[in-house]
Amino acid sequence: MKKNEVVIASACLVGLNTRYDGKNEKRDEIYRLFLEGKVIPLCPEQLGGLPTPRQKSTIIDNSVVNESGEDITQNFKRGAEEVLKCAKALNIKKIYLKEGSPSCGVYFTNKNWKRCKGSGITAKLLKKAGFNIIPIE
Ligand code: SF4
Repeated sequence: MKKNEVVIASACLVGLNTRYDGKNEKRDEIYRLFLEGKVIPLCPEQLGGLPTPRQKSTIIDNSVVNESGEDITQNFKRGAEEVLKCAKALNIKKIYLKEGSPSCGVYFTNKNWKRCKGSGITAKLLKKAGFNIIPIE
């Protein structure tokens, strides 16, 4: 990574308790960058207006639903747009996203309540916009 480069990362990767269950997915390598002031931590699900903790969610066809069966697709889309807005505004070159999430998953996401191949809503939008996305397991 270049000396003064700033990246975006899924907020849970730096240890913020943004996960649906109020926990985090802290990874030391991302946390170190965060301490150096090189990471902007964002959680698309929070940015889309969802609370923490919140119900688990999954992608079914082209929608996102929670455990109560509520359609929360718009929240996911809104959050993805906010991350994209930030990445564009700051001309970000690298984005670290938490693998397997219905929002952040890069090569694997959650569909029909199972981990499977595919991208989450935010990862898909960022990929389409041409950003360099690095999945973090
Ligand atoms: Fe982490 Fe992304 Fe889930 Fe937010 S939406 S908790 S940043 S994986």
